[in-house]
Amino acid sequence: MSEQTHGYCARCECEVEVERRHPLSLRRKLKLYLYAPVILVPVFPFIAFDYVFALPIFMLYMLGIGPVLMIVREPAVCCACGALVANNARTIVATSTP
Ligand SMILES: [Zn+2]
Repeated sequence: MSEQTHGYCARCECEVEVERRHPLSLRRKLKLYLYAPVILVPVFPFIAFDYVFALPIFMLYMLGIGPVLMIVREPAVCCACGALVANNARTIVATSTP
């Protein structure tokens, strides 16, 4: 999946170049963080035999999900004016109707 480089800016009312604060490689690596439960759930009985360490680790993992989701789902921003740019054509149509 390639990164979106152009989009329609509603404020500039034209096709513009878009940018994101975090690079695509970082966002791809952080997606692995979100898939960690797929690996951890089957081995949960072995990890959780000692709740003194397992519970704080799981709580720290849960605290990290919010910032990771924020980075992974970060919207594109117009390079010219800084406005949020819609991700697909359907959203553009929905926001541009009077
Ligand atoms: Zn713009």
